[in-house]
Amino acid sequence: MNLEATIRNIKDFPKEGIDFKDITTLLKDGKAFKCAVDQIIEDLKDKNVDVIVGPEARGFLMGTPVAYGLEIGFVPVRKPGKLPAETEKFEYDLEYGTDVLEIHKDAIKPGQRVAIVDDLLATGGTMGAAAKLIEKLGGEVVAMEFLIELEFLNGRKKIDNYHINSLITY
Ligand code: 5GP
Repeated sequence: MNLEATIRNIKDFPKEGIDFKDITTLLKDGKAFKCAVDQIIEDLKDKNVDVIVGPEARGFLMGTPVAYGLEIGFVPVRKPGKLPAETEKFEYDLEYGTDVLEIHKDAIKPGQRVAIVDDLLATGGTMGAAAKLIEKLGGEVVAMEFLIELEFLNGRKKIDNYHINSLITY
C-alpha cells in the first residue's frame, strides 16, 4: 500500500518556511493506519521488546496500537508538568532554546528492552531525549520506529548507534 499518498503536506505550518507532514490523513484512513502499525510490529516482533515508549503527542497515536499488537505495555514520555507521579527529566537543545521531556521514574525497570515509536524523525532531538530518559532508568533501547523520516535534516546522525526503522522517507 502507498502510505506516502495518505500524508498531507501543509505549507508554512506551524510557521513560514516549514512544510509540515500532516499524519491525520493517514490516521483516518483505516487501511493505511493498520498497514503502518502492522509494518512497525513486523520490524519489532523478533526483537524481544518488553515495552513501547511513545513521546507526546503523536508518539501516543502510533505507539499504543503497536504495544497492543505486541501484547506488551506502553509508557508515555511527556512535556514537563503533565505526568502525575515522580519523574526523571531530560533537557535537550532545539533550534532556538531548549525543551524538556519527562518519564515516570518507575515506568521502566532496569534491563527492560524498549522500543520507542514516534510519528516523525526530524532533527532527532526528541528521539535522542527519549532514549536518554529510558537509559537513565536502566532500560535498553533496542529500536526506534518512525512513520516518517525527513532524511534531509540528518536526524539519524544524532541517534546513529540505534536500530532505526522508518516507513516513509522524504
Ligand atoms: P525532532 O525532535 O526530530 O526535531 O522532531 C520530531 C518531533 O517533532 C516529533 O515528535 C514530531 O511529532 C514533531 N514534528 C516535527 N515536524 C513535524 C512534521 O512535519 N509533521 C509531524 N507530524 N510532526 C512533526
